[in-house]
Amino acid sequence: MADLLVRRARLLGKDGLFDIVVEKGEISKVAKSEIQERGKEVIDAEGNLVLPSFVEPHVHLDKVLLAEETREASSISEAREIVKEAKKKFTVSGVSKRIEKVIPLAIENGVTKIRSHVDVDEYAKLVSVEALLSLKKKYSGIVDFQIVAFPQEGLLKDSESLELLRKALDMGADVVGGLPEAELSQDDSKRHVDHAIAIAIEAGRDIDMHCDVLPFGKVTEYFASEVIRKGIEAGRATADHLIALSYYDDYYASKVIGLLKMAGINVISNPCTMMTSGNLDRPPRGRGVTRIKELLKAGVNLAFGLDNLVDPYNPFGDFNALLNGWFFAYAGQLNSSSEIESLLEMPTLSSARILRLKGYGIEPGSKADFNVMNSKDPRSALRFHQKPRYVIENGNILVENRYEITNHYELPS
Ligand SMILES: [Zn+2]
Repeated sequence: MADLLVRRARLLGKDGLFDIVVEKGEISKVAKSEIQERGKEVIDAEGNLVLPSFVEPHVHLDKVLLAEETREASSISEAREIVKEAKKKFTVSGVSKRIEKVIPLAIENGVTKIRSHVDVDEYAKLVSVEALLSLKKKYSGIVDFQIVAFPQEGLLKDSESLELLRKALDMGADVVGGLPEAELSQDDSKRHVDHAIAIAIEAGRDIDMHCDVLPFGKVTEYFASEVIRKGIEAGRATADHLIALSYYDDYYASKVIGLLKMAGINVISNPCTMMTSGNLDRPPRGRGVTRIKELLKAGVNLAFGLDNLVDPYNPFGDFNALLNGWFFAYAGQLNSSSEIESLLEMPTLSSARILRLKGYGIEPGSKADFNVMNSKDPRSALRFHQKPRYVIENGNILVENRYEITNHYELPS
C-alpha cells in the first residue's frame, strides 16, 4: 500500500487530472487514469493544482524583523547604514530567534526551499552564517536552506570580508555572494566581481551577485562577460535586481540581455522590497524592477524574490509566493495567459533551477515535496493567492490549511 495517494490533481501545463502515488518520501507514480492503488493516507485534490514546493530564491534571513528593533529608513542608503549599526550587536541566538519567528510563515505557505544571503563583514563577522548553519541542521527534512555568504560591505572597502567569505565557505556556506556597488569606485566594483568569481571557481561553488541595485550601475555587463570568459557553467551564476537595465537605452540593454543569455546567468528581480525602498529618481519614479518582459522573451531563466521582510528595507514582506507573484505581475506588467502561467513557474521550476535542486518536480523519481493548492488554474491561484491546502515534504503532510465554506453575499432582488 502506498504511503500517500493524491487523487484528482491538476498539473501545470497538462490537460486532465492525475493521481500521484508517494512511497518512501518519493513520487513513485503519476498517472492520468484512476490508479487502483490504495494509500495509508489519501488526499482528494478535487481538481486543484498540485505544484512542486515553492522555492524562495532570494531573501536576507539574518535581517528579518529587524524593523522591530531599529529606526526607520527613508532610502536604500539609509537602510544600509541602519543595518550596519544593527550588525554590530548581532549574536547567534538573536539572529536565530528572529529567523525562527518567520520559518513557520514559510512552511505554512508551502515554501520549503530557501536560498538566503547572510552578511559576512567586519560588523557581522560570521555570526549570521553560524546561526543559519545550525538552523539548516535543525530543520533538515522540513526546510532546505541554501546559504549565500554575502559581503554586503564590499570585498575591498571592508578589510575583513575577503577572509571571512572564504571562512564562511569552509564552515559550510553554499554559495558566493556579492554587492559590487558597495565599493568606492567603478574600478573597485569590477575587482569585487573578479574576487568573487575567483573564490567561486577556487571553491567550486555557485555565485549569486547583487548587480546594479541602483539605477546608475553598470556592473551587469562586466559580470556577464567575466562569467563567459572564465567558463562558468550555464546556470551556476545568478544576477539579482538589475534595476539599472531599465534605465539603459534600448541598444545597450539588448546587448546586456544578450550577454546574460549567452552566459546562462539566472536573473532574480525583487520588486516587493525595491518598490517600497524607493530609488533615486525624481518623478516620474521607476518601479524598482528590471526589464522583466524583455528578459522573459529572451529566454533568460527569471524568477522573483522576497529579498527583505520587516526590516529597514521593507516594512512588509510575506513568504506567500502567490502573493509575491501577483505583485510581480503588476510590477512587470505581465497579463497574458502565457505570462500568467510563467508566474507559477518562477517560484517553482525557475527558482529550483537557480538553486540547482535535484529530484524536484511532480514526476516519478522526484522527491515527494509538493503543495496541494486551493485553485484550479494559474489565474485564480494568483488572484486569490491562498495558502496551499496541504504542504507535503518528504511525503509527509507538514501543514493542512483549512478553508471554511462561506455563503456568498447575494444581491437583493
Ligand atoms: Zn538582496
